[in-house]
Amino acid sequence: MVSNRVVLHFPREISNQPIIYRLVKEYDLMFNILQARIDPDREGLLILELSGSRENYAEGIKYLQSQGVGFQLLSQDIRRNEERCVHCGACTAICPTGALFMNRAEMTVDFDSAKCIACLLCMRMCPQRAIEVTL
Ligand code: SF4
Ligand code: SF4
Repeated sequence: MVSNRVVLHFPREISNQPIIYRLVKEYDLMFNILQARIDPDREGLLILELSGSRENYAEGIKYLQSQGVGFQLLSQDIRRNEERCVHCGACTAICPTGALFMNRAEMTVDFDSAKCIACLLCMRMCPQRAIEVTL
């Protein structure tokens, strides 16, 4: 049995196709959606806990790739160094999942690690080098 947290990127051309349905039906994989952002006719992003037998899992990933779906293991943990962060908000504009967001009531930038897909875009953006990676 294999179980992984994975990030799937759906190009615009295939974002309205029943790819996940086929993954379940034809490859007998189980999934638990952790985060989803798929609009018809636009690029999509899906973060899943994906599990199944080793053989089915490998075949399922091959199927995803053959359909043009970007596949990435969620294997890195991102943390924010609270002593360095000055809550400038620069990272909130680039974070694709909303893991870094403005808390308007407190006028601070908050970090929801459960939404983070470890894309590292915020790391390049942060002037304080407050974003750190734990491998
Ligand atoms: S860019 Fe860096 S310093 Fe600014 S809010 Fe984000 S983590 Fe904090
Ligand atoms: S690595 Fe940074 S930009 Fe990427 S999802 Fe996580 S918090 Fe957002």
